[in-house]
Amino acid sequence: MEAAKDKLQCWVCDHTDLKEVRPSQIDGNLGSENFLITNSDYGKTAAIYECQNCSFKQCPYLTDVIEFYESMEDDQYEEGREQRLLQERKVMQQIQRIKPNGKLLDVGAGSGILIQAAQELGYEAEGIEPSKWLYEQAQKLNLPVELGIFPQDDKLRGPYDIVTLVDVIEHVSDPKGLVAEIRKVLKPDGILVVVTPDVDSIMAKALKYKWWHFRIAHIGYFNRKNLNLVMKRAGFDVFKMMRPTWFFSVEYLLERVSAYLPGRMSVPAPGFIKRMVVPVNLRDSWMGIYKRDDKTA
Ligand SMILES: [Zn+2]
Repeated sequence: MEAAKDKLQCWVCDHTDLKEVRPSQIDGNLGSENFLITNSDYGKTAAIYECQNCSFKQCPYLTDVIEFYESMEDDQYEEGREQRLLQERKVMQQIQRIKPNGKLLDVGAGSGILIQAAQELGYEAEGIEPSKWLYEQAQKLNLPVELGIFPQDDKLRGPYDIVTLVDVIEHVSDPKGLVAEIRKVLKPDGILVVVTPDVDSIMAKALKYKWWHFRIAHIGYFNRKNLNLVMKRAGFDVFKMMRPTWFFSVEYLLERVSAYLPGRMSVPAPGFIKRMVVPVNLRDSWMGIYKRDDKTA
């Protein structure tokens, strides 16, 4: 372990001065079930190291997570499809103000929910997704999602006016490399849209390691500054920063709340209330819109 630690390097700024701020909370072996999008095991993470230069937090010893996604099956995720469609529509409405039309690529497209929202607004949209199960859900709905890991040139038909990276960058061990690859498939005046949790948000600070985004599938934790830094280093300038709104059914929210109660107590509520869908903006994620800088080759 000591020898490995010598090689620690910040995934954002390349500095080697990293400090362990949290030991691993993992006991036993990991399986696909730990990587479900709807997993509510908040606070369970691998060891977290903080860069002493840019404050980026990363899990340097849990980098090989792609195999878990490839075999993951998450029925609960698809049950929440209607709510997720509402939030992706909201994301697309923001994009529409800047790029009213064009060709869109969604990286980490899941079951194609954002693509569906983009198509409704008239965009030519496609996506790429590593999970076979999510890919199959998209196929059932005739949504153009390819199975694979970006960049996969033989499956994609760029260049694109818009690339979206929604709740993906916190799952990868080379965010700079991923974003640099995205730059290659973007048109010169194209935009990149990144949504990721904000580890410096008030919710994150209040809940500490009980914050819902501290979970095993997240191996990188950004704040506004180091998110913009990683983008800068990959050849992008920040154009606009926003707080995205999510939509949840009351039932889903009550389940999430119960994860914070002792013994996972359940919260009773009548059925019609449980089926209500409400917008929630906890201001604990960033939605950054980026443009290619002119300097990077
Ligand atoms: Zn750093």
